[in-house]
Amino acid sequence: MRFCATVLTLYPEMFPGHLGQSLAGRAIERGDVEIAPVNIRDYANDKHRSVDDTPAGGGAGMVLKPDVLAAAIDAVSPDGDTRPRLLMSPRGKPLTQARVRDLADGPGVVIVCGRFEGVDQRVIEARNLEEVSVGDYVLSGGEPAALVLLDAVIRVLPGVMGNAASGTHESFETGLLEHPHYTRPQVFEGREIPAVLISGNHKAIDAWREAQSRALTRARRPDLLELTDPLPDRKPDQVAK
Ligand code: SAH
Repeated sequence: MRFCATVLTLYPEMFPGHLGQSLAGRAIERGDVEIAPVNIRDYANDKHRSVDDTPAGGGAGMVLKPDVLAAAIDAVSPDGDTRPRLLMSPRGKPLTQARVRDLADGPGVVIVCGRFEGVDQRVIEARNLEEVSVGDYVLSGGEPAALVLLDAVIRVLPGVMGNAASGTHESFETGLLEHPHYTRPQVFEGREIPAVLISGNHKAIDAWREAQSRALTRARRPDLLELTDPLPDRKPDQVAK
């Protein structure tokens, strides 16, 4: 199935950006993924092609006009389009690997990239936009956030990652951060690869990795251990206590 992302932006030339390279680039070339940037300014309705105006109530910055944005959304996502409509926003629900997998299971996304101070609240409500954040910091525009979201979604689409097994043990997939990795040389600047990893004892290796994962998660992200709602693909014995 083709995954179709339509991205509403004032900077269409920012797409596909880095997604034109490597694994995502090949998925686009194969036609498994389509990334269609659309310029919000094409839907401006005055002779100056304005897309923003001053905030009601005063204050700094500008706000994206609801009429222009609604026209752009209606043009790319008419009634019957089942794709979720996302608005990249620092106020949104933080993006998680579970939501990424959920989006990857669907037909695609319509993504609105904010600019300036943000978007008029009425278009968020009237067009049912789901606000999604990529972290607790403020970017100057939604474009890099959209690229982050699409990167995460595309890499879990069927057939995108070369080795299908890679991915399932990664950070967040089990509810834990991933264990450390090592490769040759055997000794690097006096530091050895942990002996268990070259023991050939796969049970011992699995146990070591699991213990490392738990210790790292406890030290860096104790909040993950408290998560009560397990990811859909988590096996019961992997659920963090
Ligand atoms: N005044 C807003 C910030 C606007 S930043 C506030 O304080 O909440 C301009 C645009 O960048 C936003 O409309 C949004 O589309 C994007 N953006 C900024 N930070 C983001 C984040 N952490 N996640 C997703 N999008 C973000």
